Amino acid sequence: MPEAIFSSEGSTGEYRPEPAEIEVPRLKGAGLAGVAGAGEMSHAEHVAAVRAGEIGAVHSWELVTAVDGPGTRLTVFLSGCPLRCAYCHNPDTLKMRDGEAVRVEDLLDRIKRYKAVFTASNGGVTFSGGDPLFQPAFLSRLLRGCKEEGIHTCIDTSGFLGANVTDEMLDDIDLVLLDVKSGLAETYKNLTERELEPTIRFGKRLNDAGIPMWIRFVLIPGVTDSLENIEAVAQIVKKWGSVHRLEVLPFHQMGRDKWAELGMKYRLADVEPPSKISVEAARSVFRAHGIDTY
Ligand code: SF4
Repeated sequence: MPEAIFSSEGSTGEYRPEPAEIEVPRLKGAGLAGVAGAGEMSHAEHVAAVRAGEIGAVHSWELVTAVDGPGTRLTVFLSGCPLRCAYCHNPDTLKMRDGEAVRVEDLLDRIKRYKAVFTASNGGVTFSGGDPLFQPAFLSRLLRGCKEEGIHTCIDTSGFLGANVTDEMLDDIDLVLLDVKSGLAETYKNLTERELEPTIRFGKRLNDAGIPMWIRFVLIPGVTDSLENIEAVAQIVKKWGSVHRLEVLPFHQMGRDKWAELGMKYRLADVEPPSKISVEAARSVFRAHGIDTY
């Protein structure tokens, strides 16, 4: 990730992605299935619209059930992520410029079409990625638009860019799927190329605001599966009373081919998925701390 796209001008001093020209999403005549592309405009107009959050970079969307939050969800994958997780199974979502330029109102129109499905299933929309916090202005408009329609909202994030979430945005978020990828700072850095601390700060802020969280932790043999690391995650999470559940997700190799297709170096090619026994052992560590774990 080129450092040039970040500035540290945010009030917290954390990284704040700026949609600099290099990161402007590509203009396409046709957008995602059922969502129109942003259409033609000058480059300057396009940059201004991206900065204002009127246009965002979207990778894809899908309708899912029993994942990414309660009920039936429309999961929207926004492009751009500041992390480089060794196990990322969506490496094609990491760069904002690779997404398709979509107008916020067009995406909201698509989301609204599923209102009856959301109501019938107690579902809603989940903004994932990449990391949805990479495009805070666009996300903010999407969240507001959903809440104006009474649609349940969820964001799926590492929390690294939690400082990009304003208090107004927090009011429009019903649930956060927060990845705590490791409880040990060094392991986190090795795995993601970023720091753990912003995730802890964001989790605390969500907890203080009483926003429900589902925590996700990927169990990777030889990387995150030490008892010390699992205990460290538990120590972080158990302090947050607004955590409703924790999911231990077994590492898998389903993203491996994408790395090869993108010409990116994949570090975990030789790692096997964890055994059922070790996944259950990890779950019992969390349960021993009183955390509702799946
Ligand atoms: S945070 Fe998610 S999208 Fe970003 S690199 Fe990690 S796994 Fe991939």
